[in-house]
Amino acid sequence: MTKPEIHIIGAGPVGLSCGIFALNAGYKVKIVTESSEVAHIAGLAAGGMLAPAYECLCQSSHEFSNFAFSARKLWDEFAKNLNIAISPNALSLGETPQEVEFLERQKIASREFGYNFDFIKIPDGLKTNAALKLDSDGLLNPMVVYPQMLELFKNLGGIILYDEVVALDNGKIIGKSNEYDTDLIIVAAGYQSHQLKECLPELGHLFPTRGQVIEINHPAPADGSIRYHSTYIMSRAGKTIVGATSQSHNDDWSTNQEDMDTLYNNACKLYPELIGKEIINTRAGLRPNTDDEMPILGQSSLEGVYLATGAYRNGWLFAPMIGKYVIASIKNDPLTYSYKRF
Ligand SMILES: Cc1cc2nc3c(=O)[nH]c(=O)nc-3n(C[C@H](O)[C@H](O)[C@H](O)COP(=O)(O)OP(=O)(O)OC[C@H]3O[C@@H](n4cnc5c(N)ncnc54)[C@H](O)[C@@H]3O)c2cc1C
Repeated sequence: MTKPEIHIIGAGPVGLSCGIFALNAGYKVKIVTESSEVAHIAGLAAGGMLAPAYECLCQSSHEFSNFAFSARKLWDEFAKNLNIAISPNALSLGETPQEVEFLERQKIASREFGYNFDFIKIPDGLKTNAALKLDSDGLLNPMVVYPQMLELFKNLGGIILYDEVVALDNGKIIGKSNEYDTDLIIVAAGYQSHQLKECLPELGHLFPTRGQVIEINHPAPADGSIRYHSTYIMSRAGKTIVGATSQSHNDDWSTNQEDMDTLYNNACKLYPELIGKEIINTRAGLRPNTDDEMPILGQSSLEGVYLATGAYRNGWLFAPMIGKYVIASIKNDPLTYSYKRF
């Protein structure tokens, strides 16, 4: 029996991962996505950290932390298929006694997930009091990985169609240019999935959390990522990326000078060598957020339509896990991240 055809809406990291897992499971797959001239892809503004420990440890439920750590493990295999490298270096910094105590708790909690994090010497040039090495966390370069994902998707037989989807109707996707008949649909358009809320009211639970980053013409103090509160400094191709702002219910895809100055000043406090160095690039993106900051996955309120959105701050980390989860949910939906929880 031939497998049904799936149309995925959106070619961000999540849509492409869903496509790759669907193709590997034997489905015929087409992705309908906005053309590159108009596309807004949060994944291309992202830092690219694969950071289950920094994002979840001692802050999220055990179940969600487990999802995040499993997602990180899945990347090792996925990275081989994509032929890309993941930097294994990730530090979390503590300045005050309370922050250092929090790092101590994370060190202990790391054992629950099979790690044994330890404090290391603070890299030269950083002004802080403690650095915990997060052995689980890694860093990829979205600018390198994204084209590799597109290529793998196409090499496996996937087809990309360029159109802006405006509605769904009885097994049909309605785009601005064309209509597409299909057996199954996966909505993976990041925050912009909410544009389909007339057809799928549950997508009204998505809201944007805008993020901005800057790129500074100076090497970072160490390979990988260094995090302190909401600021991170990371090394990318010999330059320093500094992120990220976090502005909820703000749907502006552009960067703004005041926010760039704040990022720059925060980074200079932590790493004074950056003072006076030039900002050579700025980027902004909208993270697809939800009230409980967890993704919305699996069966939607319309039969044959599945959801793969709401990855919020961790769309790169979660991408292969969401792909695996959503394709498996077509046969048997565990309902763990179902929209029904709202
Ligand atoms: C500043 C910043 C830093 C971040 N850092 C990290 C990080 O370090 N690690 C991490 O894991 N995550 C990070 N994130 C979060 C991550 O980028 C997102 O969670 C991720 O991009 C979500 O992926 P997505 O594929 O769901 O959406 P997106 O990446 O936004 O992709 C959506 C796709 O859908 C398409 N689309 C949208 N609307 C339509 C439509 N109507 N019709 C057809 N196509 C459509 C778009 O063109 C795009 O191709 C960061 C985000 C930001 C903004």
